[in-house]
Amino acid sequence: MSKTKMPASLPDPIINENAKIVLARRYQKKDAEGIVYETVKELFWRVASAIAAEEAKYDGSSCKPATLARDFYDLMTSYSFLPNSPTLMNAGTGLGQLAACFVLPVADSIEDIFDAVKHAAMIHKSGGGTGFSFSRLRAKDSVVGSTGGVASGPLSFLRIFNCATEQIKQGGTRRGANMGILRVDHPDIMEFIKAKERDGELNNFNLSIGLTEAFMRAVEKNEEFDLMAPNSGQVVEKLNAREVFNLLVQKAWESGDPGIVFLDRINRDNPTPALGEIESTNPCGEQPLLPYEACNLGSINLGKCYAKGKNGHDSEVNWDELRRIIHLSVRFLDNVIDASVYPLSEITEMVGKNRKIGLGVMGWADLLFQLDIAYNSQTAVDLAERVMKFMRDEARSASKQLAAERGPFPAYAESVFGKANLGPYRNATTTTIAPTGTLSIIGGCSSGVEPLFALSFVRNVMDNDKLVESNPFFETALKQADAYSPKLMEEIAKVGTIRKMEHLPHDLRRVYVTAMDIEPIWHLKMQAAFQKYTDNAVSKTVNLPGSATREDIWDIYWKAYEYGCKGVTVYRDGSKTSQVLCTGDGD
Ligand code: ADP
Repeated sequence: MSKTKMPASLPDPIINENAKIVLARRYQKKDAEGIVYETVKELFWRVASAIAAEEAKYDGSSCKPATLARDFYDLMTSYSFLPNSPTLMNAGTGLGQLAACFVLPVADSIEDIFDAVKHAAMIHKSGGGTGFSFSRLRAKDSVVGSTGGVASGPLSFLRIFNCATEQIKQGGTRRGANMGILRVDHPDIMEFIKAKERDGELNNFNLSIGLTEAFMRAVEKNEEFDLMAPNSGQVVEKLNAREVFNLLVQKAWESGDPGIVFLDRINRDNPTPALGEIESTNPCGEQPLLPYEACNLGSINLGKCYAKGKNGHDSEVNWDELRRIIHLSVRFLDNVIDASVYPLSEITEMVGKNRKIGLGVMGWADLLFQLDIAYNSQTAVDLAERVMKFMRDEARSASKQLAAERGPFPAYAESVFGKANLGPYRNATTTTIAPTGTLSIIGGCSSGVEPLFALSFVRNVMDNDKLVESNPFFETALKQADAYSPKLMEEIAKVGTIRKMEHLPHDLRRVYVTAMDIEPIWHLKMQAAFQKYTDNAVSKTVNLPGSATREDIWDIYWKAYEYGCKGVTVYRDGSKTSQVLCTGDGD
């Protein structure tokens, strides 16, 4: 595919200081000695021109590659939209693996298990993250037919995956991240729930328990439920559902691990049940996928979609700008599928059938700051629904337009859309809300749909220099209120929040809230509001103070179920471990 040459008049991008460091370390191309030889401008042009070049192969295309390359360049360098890290790293290079999310099957034989280890290694090398369900593996101590010995069970194999991940440093880009899921009705469930109780154990995995509707009903009624042997389908044991749920809550209270996912709900939203059942998500939980499926993500920076009202009043979301960005981003992500070279033919085939993309948002907290709306308010929750409904409607309309130009996704006829005569669409799913761990650093915005962690904090820089860094919207608001001083910023940096600073204007303290200031219920309401209009899932952590009780976590888990979330992750301040790193430079 021929790429458009970089025009001489192309403007230089403006890059924030943290982005400079992250981009140079992980994204710009380096020679054999590790010396960066690509400028940031060249990086964004490499990506823009490679993705735009895909346009040439569609006769019915309404866009010219050269014009589109410039549109994509402007889209990224205005930080209105950024594609997931592997696209930024690999597009237009020999590597060409552009997706962040993969799910691989793990079948119940030694050959299949070690095939999955090998395939995961290949994916990690290319910068992608992998999710697996271990539910098909026979339970520990069950008989192995061919040898007469006993099986070692899902957990022992999971440790092999963990160890393999440890050894692959992803070709100098980032260390691997994995999701491991076990169905709640697997006989080894109690051991699995406790798998990460020792610090550092399975450090390359996030673990989640796959909860079923039958299990949730048993919890509600305080009844027993069946554990079934995956290889025979026979009931091997019965457990009290509340005891299992209690253990889940206890472990999440201790360390945040494991999380939970609602498997039946995920499968209710499976757009192509004829192609199989969804058993797992990607590492951070936002992308449920079929075995051998991959998905590329991209995120729109909502902080850029703000329209100042006349006389400084009635500020609003800039809906026209948001629509423009969505349509261009959907085209971008659909082209990424074609530009991507997948490490396995099975993946190429599955991706080719469904053409899933995951367009999401970041900078949500920044948008709320600009609109003077507190994150922990019904106004914010209502706006979240409005924004996400708009995102989904416009993304689907863009996907429809692409289907008219290029044809629907090949599995369309057998999909739920095809059967109901909706569409046709170019993509089986269009929306996902990613954590945007690194993208938000590059974009200089708040991450995903999360509130800020701190309004101001101290960053250690080289030679032990300390730099106080603060949210730009917060700094501006302080200046406007005549409350700014370097000394105040240092004080805020010590605690991160202004909740208790009663000398500051009330309105500032209402709007500029941080993750820890927010009652857990608002975290959950926000997640549910975005989930309502997201095809795939929402990456979100419910932050809890150190003083939170087990009952609080029980309550959150139960409400997540009632509110229609697809899963939930909690983190109690000061508890033992956090999640597998998906942020910063990934190690
Ligand atoms: P980014 O901001 O780098 O694009 P996100 O933080 O939004 O990435 O994560 C999106 C997805 O990318 C994750 O759910 C996971 O599938 C994959 N991912 C993130 N970090 C890593 C990592 N260190 N190694 C492998 N995959 C990762």
